[in-house]
Amino acid sequence: MSNKAVPKRCDVVVIGGGPAGSSVAALLAKQGVDVVLLERALHPRQQVGESLIPHVWKYADLTGVSGLIEKEGFVAKAGGITVWNGRIHRIAFSDFGFNRPALHVERDIFDQLLLQHAENQGAAVFQQVSVRGVDLGADWPVVSYQDKRGGDLSDGVIRCRYLIDASGASAVLAGQFKSKCLIASRMRFLSLWGHFKNSRYVAADGRSHAPEQVHKIKPITFVTSFEDGWIWHIAMRKVTSVGLVINSDRARAMDKAQRERFYLQTLKTAPYMECLLANAEYLPDSFRQRPDYSYYSTRLCGENFYCIGDAASFVDPIYSHGVLNAFYNASLVAMAVVESLKHPEFRARHAQLCENRIRQFYGFSRSLALGEFGGDGVDAELVRRFMRQVPTVELELMFAASFMSERSQNFHAMAQDAGLAMSSPGAKVHFMESLCL
Ligand SMILES: Cc1cc2nc3c(=O)[nH]c(=O)nc-3n(C[C@H](O)[C@H](O)[C@H](O)COP(=O)(O)OP(=O)(O)OC[C@H]3O[C@@H](n4cnc5c(N)ncnc54)[C@H](O)[C@@H]3O)c2cc1C
Repeated sequence: MSNKAVPKRCDVVVIGGGPAGSSVAALLAKQGVDVVLLERALHPRQQVGESLIPHVWKYADLTGVSGLIEKEGFVAKAGGITVWNGRIHRIAFSDFGFNRPALHVERDIFDQLLLQHAENQGAAVFQQVSVRGVDLGADWPVVSYQDKRGGDLSDGVIRCRYLIDASGASAVLAGQFKSKCLIASRMRFLSLWGHFKNSRYVAADGRSHAPEQVHKIKPITFVTSFEDGWIWHIAMRKVTSVGLVINSDRARAMDKAQRERFYLQTLKTAPYMECLLANAEYLPDSFRQRPDYSYYSTRLCGENFYCIGDAASFVDPIYSHGVLNAFYNASLVAMAVVESLKHPEFRARHAQLCENRIRQFYGFSRSLALGEFGGDGVDAELVRRFMRQVPTVELELMFAASFMSERSQNFHAMAQDAGLAMSSPGAKVHFMESLCL
């Protein structure tokens, strides 16, 4: 961790050292841009989002971090099984021709590795420095921060030519702009999650296996619906992440302790969890919650600022699009900023292009993960155009996955409108009679 003073000026300030911020900082630094990243926490810090789909490798290759990820030895996963309203479906990534594995990652370790990589590429990284506000009106944006290193608090400012907000759900700029919108209330969800030791896990054969087998017999991400919600079960190296997603209204009146009791009680009675967690040990310190997590911002990019990753929008974790979205946004914005530094006369155009692209991906995820399109920051034509450009293998996987829950009717309709010849899930979504847990 750097003890150096935060500089007074630089080309680019990035707020936040999650996957979005670390990736954009690494890409910029690699290209010789003078970039400063300010991160509020001290890594490793806790974060949710442990299931990664195989698409992430192309972005990891771009930033140059793939070697570090491979070396870490995260759990490789084989695919997914969902039990949705009693129907069991399975997909295997190998059926789609992916030759690199999807992963289950401990996010504290994964995110620290990405941040370290950004620093190795030449980004000046300052942890425990929290951004308090940004003045975008000045010729050079002025970023005010509080430096909490060493236990003392001191305030400071740094000026930059471009500001990239990658502050995740804190969404610093959207907060200032008052541009953060929650989506329709019936689709507002609360998530409660925690970690367990010694949980059995589900593999592609539909059987459960002892936790020690996780490197020998690949797990799948296991999802089961219950009442109006669903549960994820993600086996990692030492612990298993188990999360509950319910409509926010169901738990609005509960305090944190009541929600934790509700979480544990639900897992005791939820289908399949009873067997998987029978001999597992709950780790109470790991309990976390995130209410009303689906939102979007109506203002994403401008002549001197960009909002990326969760700071721009977040839809829903069901198809593991969060980290992918963060990586994708980072790669777009790194290109736009490098070009804008070279040719400032085109910066408005670059900002507009990025805004459209970020919205497109948000709409794509939105159509996949939640039913009933209707406003919610989505331009359907942008999404249809995006669908025509997505590499076939990736679109095919998403299309197959969309048949595993009953929430993707929009996606099917959009794919048809876009003229894509994908009217059935084909042979790549396997229906299973039962699981043997
Ligand atoms: C319940 C749930 C389950 C999920 N499951 C998955 C999953 O299985 N797979 C998946 O891909 N995604 C998942 N996600 C989404 C995933 O967690 C996020 O999309 C991803 O972490 C976004 O990365 P980011 O870099 O934009 O933000 P973050 O990872 O949130 O990083 C933002 C960083 O900014 C820092 N920060 C915040 N405010 C400030 C400030 N003022 N100054 C300085 N620094 C600041 C924070 O400390 C943090 O380190 C899930 C999300 C939820 C809510």
